[in-house]
Amino acid sequence: MNNSDGRAGPRSLELFATASRVIPGGVNSPVRAFSSVGGKPPFIRSAQGATLTTEDGVTLIDYVGTWGPALLGHGHPAVVEAVCKAAQDGLSFGACTGAEGTFAERLCMIVPALRNGLVRLVNSGTEATMSALRVARGFTGRDKIIKADGGYHGHADMLLVAAGSGAATMGIPGSKGVPAGAVQDTLLVPYNDLEAVRECLHTHKNQVAAIILEPVAGNMGCVPPVAGYLEGLRQLCDRNGVVLIFDEVMTGFRISLGGAQAHYNVTPDMVCLGKIVGGGLPVGAYGGRRNIMQCVAPLGPVYQAGTLSGNPLGVAAGLATLDILEREKPYPQLATQTVKLVAGLGALAKRHGVPMSENHVASMFTGFFQAAKVCNYADARQSNLEAFACYHREMLARGIYLAPSQFEAGFVSVAHDDATIDRTLAAADGALKVVAQTIG
Ligand SMILES: *Cc1c(COP(=O)(O)O)cnc(C)c1O
Repeated sequence: MNNSDGRAGPRSLELFATASRVIPGGVNSPVRAFSSVGGKPPFIRSAQGATLTTEDGVTLIDYVGTWGPALLGHGHPAVVEAVCKAAQDGLSFGACTGAEGTFAERLCMIVPALRNGLVRLVNSGTEATMSALRVARGFTGRDKIIKADGGYHGHADMLLVAAGSGAATMGIPGSKGVPAGAVQDTLLVPYNDLEAVRECLHTHKNQVAAIILEPVAGNMGCVPPVAGYLEGLRQLCDRNGVVLIFDEVMTGFRISLGGAQAHYNVTPDMVCLGKIVGGGLPVGAYGGRRNIMQCVAPLGPVYQAGTLSGNPLGVAAGLATLDILEREKPYPQLATQTVKLVAGLGALAKRHGVPMSENHVASMFTGFFQAAKVCNYADARQSNLEAFACYHREMLARGIYLAPSQFEAGFVSVAHDDATIDRTLAAADGALKVVAQTIG
């Protein structure tokens, strides 16, 4: 075995066998399984900067970044130090700490939707979206919500309708175990289609509480909003008394420090945060306009709670991450590296005669295995999934760790330097050659 072959070796296979005996599918989140690309997942022993080291002792260049949080690269010394220091003082109190207020204040300064507003900390992106929707429903007194086809907002019952990410890959856009009643108020529209939203609001006049949307879709692969889409949604929500919720669990602090809403200059009524906000620990947050968030208990009648919410370790990691991002402002550099990568991939695909349609925003990217431009989930599904699976396998065999699904965004981190990008492109050259032969 060559020493950059990241495919599951003997040790990973052994660990996977153990895990599979006691964990469903051997994984604690379905996106980690290799169902759609074949093979078994390599197990990870450690991570540093732009790389992961597998249990088989192979070091891989990582474009998953723990599904988004690792914007600063893995194991940033200042973040690790902050967590260790906080741990010394106690792991959890279930009581108020000063750091929570500092953190919330910082979030309210950075994220446009939180300016002069209120924010509540939770433990995951899923909790953030389900709580935000409950608040929007409580605030408006309406039940219906609108989501985009292929939009993923965590695994709450009401949101598991035509959801992207793992649900798309596994071919279960819905899910068994979700009662019909739980999704009867969830309305679906295609992403990037303003007219569909207008019609939906017209049909369900005065019944829609909220539109929840990824302002840059990431869970159908990376799909940016078309010009005027976010602005149009803002107007429609204003006219119809609908709460506009941007699910920035993936895009928050990634598209820009203030998220996609700062980048596109469209401020939603509420925002959901996760992933980067916890610097690698399980933290989520939701918040927005003060009059809306005043509905939340104990101020108001909408109940939402959490034993470990505002956990001192998570808050310390989040604060340290925001400190670094504010100080170092790495966004131009992240964009430059991402452009280098996607331009290089595009050129290689062309040279090998492999149809590839590339989308990227800031440090998020996806190469769809098809010639046509991808603007929504229906487009994304036209991709050649066999070609993707082949590409994934060949890249892993050459030391490059990609999400095992066409319907995921890739992430570049601060630690992806020129040498890292060059090595990735060298691997892609070999991988795409094989893909060309396979689909040829
Ligand atoms: C990851 C993600 C979620 C869910 O977050 P979890 O922490 O996995 O529960 C929700 N929305 C978006 C846009 C995401 O990318």
